[in-house]
Amino acid sequence: MDITKWVRPNIRLLKPYSCARNEFKGEASIYLDANENPMNSPYSRYPDPLQEALKAKIARLKGVRPSQIMLGVGSDEPIDLVIRIFCEPQHDNIVAIDPTYGMYRVCAGINNVEYRRVLLNEDYTLDAERLLAATDRQTKVIFLCSPNNPSGNLLNRSEMTRTVENFDGIVVVDEAYIDFSSEASWLTVLDNYPNIIVFHTFSKAWGLASVRCGMAFASEEIISFFNKVKYPYNINLLTQNFVSEHIANESRKNGWVELILAQREWLAGQLNAISWVAKVYPSDANFLLVKTPDADGIYQHLADKGIIVRNRSSVSLCAGCLRITVGSPEENAALVQALHDLNI
Ligand SMILES: *Cc1c(COP(=O)(O)O)cnc(C)c1O
Repeated sequence: MDITKWVRPNIRLLKPYSCARNEFKGEASIYLDANENPMNSPYSRYPDPLQEALKAKIARLKGVRPSQIMLGVGSDEPIDLVIRIFCEPQHDNIVAIDPTYGMYRVCAGINNVEYRRVLLNEDYTLDAERLLAATDRQTKVIFLCSPNNPSGNLLNRSEMTRTVENFDGIVVVDEAYIDFSSEASWLTVLDNYPNIIVFHTFSKAWGLASVRCGMAFASEEIISFFNKVKYPYNINLLTQNFVSEHIANESRKNGWVELILAQREWLAGQLNAISWVAKVYPSDANFLLVKTPDADGIYQHLADKGIIVRNRSSVSLCAGCLRITVGSPEENAALVQALHDLNI
């Protein structure tokens, strides 16, 4: 498969900026090539633009090759780069499931690229045929999110596969919540699908949302376009080192995930026991989508008690719904108590 045919012509022809750290690679004793201050080492030096040490660790962690990894300032950066690499403004378009993560649409808007939303089924399952019917020759990218935000469910695998196999373009599979799900990641079949880009992040299970580090995984060819277009030094040294230290402590992350999964089950049970709760949707993520008779009123009641949840009632297929992150045991207990205080 030749993926370059989907790349914007100007990006295909782009000769990327060559920074000092690219032009000389290897070990030397004196660096006078980048106009750095010789004092205040190591912070005075520009960081590795391709983050090779960190990528070696991520490659081992995820079972991929380092050349299949791009690191971004959160997932926000690869979302934007996918659009800028593949979509010609005012000409090409993007197709995405609805409801889903709002950032795809915002990024499309910023880049002046048409964004077509295709409703999921009422139970938030994917209908590949309906999705593909919304594509045309100008559709360069499809955004899928599994487990999906805000619905919390994994998209059905067979419909995702049908989408990936029948679409002549790029399919992004955003797996920000995959650590909380029982399903295998699409990374396990990355080599079989040259047109997919899988997103993971350190913001959720790893507890590093403030650090801003996201990952995109794809064929070496797609990653080489990411590397051409991204800012040369997008991941600073502090972040590279700090994330590396966290990866060395994977068992701590696994412990957090176990705790959150147990709390998710507990919280779902407690919410289901409240008479006015219309539905607690099944979740493969670290949040629960809850259908209520009065999302605005309940949101305000909780906010008055200092508890903030996400009101998703104006989102497609989510009328009356609140999205509630699974917190610590104490936070979840306080939430349940506050909901019991409510008379509906
Ligand atoms: C939270 C979330 C992310 C993570 O975004 P970062 O920029 O990496 O913090 C990505 N995708 C979805 C669907 C999310 O909900």
